[in-house]
Amino acid sequence: MTHVMTSHADPLKIAIVGSGPSGFYAVEALLQSGPDVEIDLYDRIPVPFGLVRYGVAPDHQKLKEVTRVFTRLALDQRVRFFGNVTVGHDVSIAELQELYDAVVIASGAGVDRAMNVPGEDLNGSHAAVDFVGWYNGHPDYRDCRFDLSGEHAAIVGQGNVAIDVCRILAKTVDELRKTDIAEHALDALARSRLRTITIVGRRGPAQMKFTTKELRELGTLTGWDVTLDPADLELDETSAVEMAAPQAAVAAKNLEVLRGYAAKPRSQPREIRIRFFSAPHRVEGDERIKNLVVERTRLSGPAFRQQAEGTGTYRDIAADVLFRSIGYAALPLPGCGAAVAGSAVRPSLQDRPERCGPGPRCRRSRCAPHLRDGVDQEGADRHHRHQPRRQHRNGGEPSRGQSSAASGRPG
Ligand SMILES: Cc1cc2nc3c(=O)[nH]c(=O)nc-3n(C[C@H](O)[C@H](O)[C@H](O)COP(=O)(O)OP(=O)(O)OC[C@H]3O[C@@H](n4cnc5c(N)ncnc54)[C@H](O)[C@@H]3O)c2cc1C
Repeated sequence: MTHVMTSHADPLKIAIVGSGPSGFYAVEALLQSGPDVEIDLYDRIPVPFGLVRYGVAPDHQKLKEVTRVFTRLALDQRVRFFGNVTVGHDVSIAELQELYDAVVIASGAGVDRAMNVPGEDLNGSHAAVDFVGWYNGHPDYRDCRFDLSGEHAAIVGQGNVAIDVCRILAKTVDELRKTDIAEHALDALARSRLRTITIVGRRGPAQMKFTTKELRELGTLTGWDVTLDPADLELDETSAVEMAAPQAAVAAKNLEVLRGYAAKPRSQPREIRIRFFSAPHRVEGDERIKNLVVERTRLSGPAFRQQAEGTGTYRDIAADVLFRSIGYAALPLPGCGAAVAGSAVRPSLQDRPERCGPGPRCRRSRCAPHLRDGVDQEGADRHHRHQPRRQHRNGGEPSRGQSSAASGRPG
């Protein structure tokens, strides 16, 4: 965090676009940075916390405990929250720049990456992020429909979002009922007839992105075995080099977990299949998807930069429903230029808004999980209580952001 040098006698006025972890970490850094600051947080949805609220799985409440820290920051007298304000639509970056000394962009990376294979757009093929938003009750996704009446699901991607999706698909209704999953999702999942879930990745066990806790949790799901091909756990020379490196500690633990799964005899009626060295090649079906065709891959390239290349051998993976979870990208906000991923939060008195992102993984802290009502109400009350801190230079009216937020119009 760079200290802000300012000649203003008044507090430095900062607008932050986005109230997810990046926005709140920016708030924290600014409050601790020394100069007197006043911060307005804007979000396109009515409630704060971004993907901590709408991304983190509902059965992983502990991960959401970081919202207690965010709540404390939001309640600071120098901070205000304005929900239902889409920057770039309700208020422009240029207007914010007029009203504030600095604008920080922390609007996240909410767009999923496509597989770019034929058939990807058939019914039943979804972005995992849509499913996640739906089961978490995100207003953008409440009207989504997921048909879980088939027996087979496939998930493309081998990171924790893929595991979250798998776990939510696999858990019993009684288990899900104890979480804060959206009611509409609980109803739909109660009707699920899934018997297999296949998690597909292009590369091998040394390159998968799961964390060990999440991978291990798959093996505890009631009624499900985790299976894989033991041959896929044989490391090639370069992967063995990767696995021996200190930074591969998680991968090494994961490998042990996978070996345990491979050695365990089948005992449960349903099956989570982990498939390595499998690149999506096409999605097949008529009106709905039926099948994911994958191409067997091999790895090539130097350690830690190995890429999957096709071998010309194909195999079918039965899939009545498909989720892709192969990465997320940030879209630039109108008027903000290209997204600058990974730059530091650096409030500035210059013309250009600063981008903060794509955002840290949620910190794991220990706090009470269900802050939804408390925080929202506090935020709303404070919003109505406060007079605008700074009048618009041209007319003395509240900023458009404030009046839009007060109207309750959906973002
Ligand atoms: C599906 C999923 C599950 C995840 N699960 C975990 C997990 O279990 N544990 C973990 O540590 N990390 C998890 N992550 C990663 C973590 O959620 C992100 O790293 C983190 O939320 C990024 O924070 P952010 O503030 O940059 O973005 P976000 O959390 O996405 O916040 C961005 C905010 O900006 C707002 N916004 C966007 N555009 C505008 C606009 N034009 N105007 C106003 N507001 C706008 C959005 O509404 C949002 O509230 C997950 C990510 C995803 C996608």
